[in-house]
Amino acid sequence: MKSHKIALIPGDGIGVAVTEAAWEVLGRAGRGAGFALEGTTFPWSCDFYEKTGAMMPADGIETLRGFDAILLGAVGWPARVPDAVSLHGLLLPIRKAFVQYANIRPHRLLPGVEGPLRVRQFDILCIRENTEGEYAGAGGRVHGGTADEVAVETSIFTRKGVERILRFGFEQARRRRGKLASVTKSNAQKYSMVFWDEITARLATEYPDVAVSNYHIDAMAARMVIAPESLDVVVASNLFGDILTDLGAAIQGGLGYAASANINPERSAPSMFEPVHGSAPDIAHLGTANPIAAIWSGAMMLEHLGETAAAAAVLAAIEVATSRGIGTEPGKHSTKDITAAVLSALG
Ligand code: ATP
Repeated sequence: MKSHKIALIPGDGIGVAVTEAAWEVLGRAGRGAGFALEGTTFPWSCDFYEKTGAMMPADGIETLRGFDAILLGAVGWPARVPDAVSLHGLLLPIRKAFVQYANIRPHRLLPGVEGPLRVRQFDILCIRENTEGEYAGAGGRVHGGTADEVAVETSIFTRKGVERILRFGFEQARRRRGKLASVTKSNAQKYSMVFWDEITARLATEYPDVAVSNYHIDAMAARMVIAPESLDVVVASNLFGDILTDLGAAIQGGLGYAASANINPERSAPSMFEPVHGSAPDIAHLGTANPIAAIWSGAMMLEHLGETAAAAAVLAAIEVATSRGIGTEPGKHSTKDITAAVLSALG
């Protein structure tokens, strides 16, 4: 039987329960579609940090490189380990080492889920540049602690980085409804964002079948609320994408539904799939974490692995569960009940 090797990093807090739920559903979907998922679990987390002094072993990246994909729960426990340590010790090194430059987040209102807006259609794929831009980490501080202190943080936009994320966006638009919205602030940022717009315009000539629109970030924020049905694929820089995807998650009903993938489109290294939410220490021991975001992220992993039928079956099962009112309100159903409803819909 065909099989895929998956590295599982459940992480902290609710990450553990939602990864377990996703894994159960994915295994069932695989058996139904005639393939196996071989999972290896890595306990890399804040617990691991407290025991060993590192979020993952020194050869962690090399270990992960041998897998077909990574499924991650959530990492972080700010009361015990500073976020900067947990983020810089695990997630960011993985994204960077494996050139996962496309962070993709589907924002869709599932049947039965009521978001905060009265929108009829909400189905957007946000693509966030994941490696450079405003979060490149280039900068410095001088004259610390004096009245003359200066902090500089420079955005980095490279031709290679901008072109590859936009190309990925065009490809995704081609596979969906054929519309690409490129988000910048090129009226105010006249170097980097004009550069981005120019590359968008040039690539558009290679994709005559994709309708391209350019929006400024502020106008896009409003459009996502007022006229989301006009949008299909939205591509943005690291910072703008970060903000828009939180908005997208809110409109789709909350973090319990927000799935994501960190993709290496060239497949030169494994891609990583994870729900957008964090470890949520406040509900970590209640057994009420909604596993739908994690299960959906798992469906994206199956899609990436070429198991499109199984991926579609998992999404359809999530929709059956939510259309029956399971997992549609915070805290109403337990993680186990929601997982059971998805499993039963999967058959
Ligand atoms: P971060 O790691 O980003 O700092 P966090 O772990 O503090 O985040 P988030 O995961 O961002 O918190 O979530 C904020 C709040 O939303 C949580 O504290 C929790 O109450 C709720 N929440 C998040 N994810 C879920 C989920 N899957 N099911 C139910 N509630 C959730």
